[in-house]
Amino acid sequence: MTDMPDLDPFDATALRLTVNLAALADNWRDLARRSGRARTAAVVKADAYGLGIEDCGETLYRAGARDFFVAAASEGETLRAYAPEARIFVLSGIWPGQERTFFDNDLVPVLASEEQLAFWMSVLSERGPYPCALQVDTGFNRLGLSVDEALALAEDVSRPTSFDPVLVLSHLHSGDTHESDGNRRQLDLFRTVSAAYEGIEASLSASAGIFLGPQYHFDLTRPGIALYGGKAVTGMDNPMRPVATAQARIVQLREAKAGETVSYGGSHRLTRDSRLAIAAVGYADGYLRNLSGAGVPLRSQIPAGACGFIAGRPVPVTGRITMDLTIFDVTDLPAGAVRAGDYIELFGDNLALDDVAAAAGTIGYELLTALGLRYERRWLGEDDV
Ligand SMILES: *Cc1c(COP(=O)(O)O)cnc(C)c1O
Repeated sequence: MTDMPDLDPFDATALRLTVNLAALADNWRDLARRSGRARTAAVVKADAYGLGIEDCGETLYRAGARDFFVAAASEGETLRAYAPEARIFVLSGIWPGQERTFFDNDLVPVLASEEQLAFWMSVLSERGPYPCALQVDTGFNRLGLSVDEALALAEDVSRPTSFDPVLVLSHLHSGDTHESDGNRRQLDLFRTVSAAYEGIEASLSASAGIFLGPQYHFDLTRPGIALYGGKAVTGMDNPMRPVATAQARIVQLREAKAGETVSYGGSHRLTRDSRLAIAAVGYADGYLRNLSGAGVPLRSQIPAGACGFIAGRPVPVTGRITMDLTIFDVTDLPAGAVRAGDYIELFGDNLALDDVAAAAGTIGYELLTALGLRYERRWLGEDDV
């Protein structure tokens, strides 16, 4: 029998994701500084944007976050162990059957409709006082009471004394576009609402809104994507540190001749003799099929596909991305620069998440939350970097 070396799973895996928790903590502190006098929450919905709610939640809590937002009650239940003293807001509100999850884990529902309010009042009549938050729609047309409903509720003297809103919030639809008139309009409406809820904290801005200036900060800011290194504001250099680096193993190198085609459909035809590197990542891993290279008629308006980064250089995706495998053109690298077993970076320290996302006509948020289950994950703490 041969001796088989005991490899660290991270060195044995075909797909790996490094999450730099030191950078995550730095990003939270940076956003807290930019939030000025407002407190800074942390949005950790969708498994902390795909990067792991346990480790990311604990890191953000240690960095000083005491207000967290999740989308679903189950996410709040998971987070509670890692953020023991924090206030955890559940953006999807509360639904029948979830009462125990909320009360046992001290989760605060964000109520966003008259139906939710009616249900909540009936819960309070049995439970007694319990905090909630109110979401008001100031122009997004997604979740929230209308401004009129919110103003009427603020003045409603018949509401039960057990009703205890601790936060009123709204969400900007164009916070990422600083020149949008929508921001100003939503700000004005939200000022009216927050004035009607005097003495109750107010929150308007996600990551992008933090950069719009202090008048958008109110009492609490709610960054998500910027914590994870993503770009919040279009047309501005991204000041955040990258947090996630995704890498895939090269499983084969092959030489192909000019005139041959590459991948499904044969729709990419080589114009020169080429060296191709086959990487063990595909659309099942969130490496979106729309990242496929030039010549693939999947995305007419986006001419170039994505690049990977290997041997110090970006190299283009060639032909269609398949479920488990992607082909990169490494012809321009020196012979021997890439070998089977090497890892190619998909995004991270060398390739900005948002540049890769843009090559698929999408945003960093989607690339992170689509990562899938096959990555071996490694979390780097402050001690490791
Ligand atoms: C997702 C979300 C956030 C965080 O948004 P980012 O753009 O990721 O900073 C904040 N508030 C609400 C209501 C959200 O749904």
